[in-house]
Amino acid sequence: MDLSRKIEILAESAKYDVSCSSSGVMNNTRKGSIGSTATAGICHSFTSDGRCVSLLKLLFTNACIFDCHYCINRKSNAIPRATFTPQEVADLTMDFYMRNYIEGLFLSSAIIKNVDYTSELLIKTLKILRYEKAFKGYIHVKAIPGADEKLIEELGFLADRMSVNVELPSRESLKLLAPDKDPLALYKPMKQITHKKKEMAQVPALRNSAAFVPAGQSTQMIIGASPESDHSIVKIAEKLYQQYELKRVYYSAYIPVNHDSLLPAITTDPPLLREHRLYQADWLLRFYRFSADEILSEDKPNFNLYLDPKANWAVQHYEQFPVDVQSASYEQLLRIPGIGPKSAQNILKARKYYQLHLSDLKKLGVVIKRAQYFVSCNGITQPGLVNDPEWVISSLISSKQYETLKKANSQPLHEQLSLFDVERFETIKRKEARHAH
Ligand code: SF4
Repeated sequence: MDLSRKIEILAESAKYDVSCSSSGVMNNTRKGSIGSTATAGICHSFTSDGRCVSLLKLLFTNACIFDCHYCINRKSNAIPRATFTPQEVADLTMDFYMRNYIEGLFLSSAIIKNVDYTSELLIKTLKILRYEKAFKGYIHVKAIPGADEKLIEELGFLADRMSVNVELPSRESLKLLAPDKDPLALYKPMKQITHKKKEMAQVPALRNSAAFVPAGQSTQMIIGASPESDHSIVKIAEKLYQQYELKRVYYSAYIPVNHDSLLPAITTDPPLLREHRLYQADWLLRFYRFSADEILSEDKPNFNLYLDPKANWAVQHYEQFPVDVQSASYEQLLRIPGIGPKSAQNILKARKYYQLHLSDLKKLGVVIKRAQYFVSCNGITQPGLVNDPEWVISSLISSKQYETLKKANSQPLHEQLSLFDVERFETIKRKEARHAH
């Protein structure tokens, strides 16, 4: 099989992996001309110093020996199969790099023969790049759960970032949908990487030696292929950030690529809004000092479709508002919808020099459209503000959305927002859509 056919097959097979910051892109270059990214995937990631880099995104092989129900590459699917050689991946990376298309490589793989053999192939590829080609660019590589610890460590000294995909948010779902994977083995490489990084940082002699996974580790979870609630997914993400110091958790809305009785039959679009809400909640965990149990709870386990998680939290805790920006702590400012870490810092700096007015907030980076319902300045609130969470909800969303929510809930919305009956809500929405036609 020639190389361009292999690229076509393997870049296509890699596109469902979102453990980088974007998946495959198409550019406007005409077909056949130099610079086309139409066949090979280009994705983005962030280096340890925060730069965004373009990566050549490849799957080493799609000839998988596992049979995960949700995966296009599972062994029971009749799809074209291909496997690169380590030399081919190294040459391709250098070709793309020399032409200035990419700044690094994102290399993942299905399991060929066994987990150790697959890891050895990845190591061989990275060794050619690092030692023979003297490639100093960014490399993101998959750690294969179950592989020998020595192999994981060797990969860690060659790569900038590693990812171990959790894939599904519970052991039960993994057992059911990824029967060849050992749920207990999944977290081992994460633990090993965290431990090794700490060890390297603590011993001065090791600190100056070769860097070990300097850009940290990440993971991916598929959303909507299994029944876990948003709360349980956010709890797992929180645990991963705290326990294994992950840089990023990526959430991937489930796309049905296989007909399988164990998988939900998604007849509409993939659950992209849910994916979006998870990224918003993830942001709250990492930068806004929220805990998973503040964002959602066992009683209120799912996101609101109309309000983002921070606004949802604020209307449910409306007794804590309005917050006076002249005297609030940094933590209190961060809880105000429309205020982020940067605008909170700006407020703290500005108020050292002068008394703030509501009209100052916009130039300090506050999103007034959202913050106006939750702030005061020296006791003065936005004119016309009604101190009632129901009124705030009706102001934050469209009247049509508000009416739909009201119909789906018998109790006050600010007590029920993330609890409302999703099925009933969907039925109402469908009926409304029918009437609209
Ligand atoms: S191990 Fe499972 S998820 Fe990974 S490529 Fe193979 S079938 Fe797909």
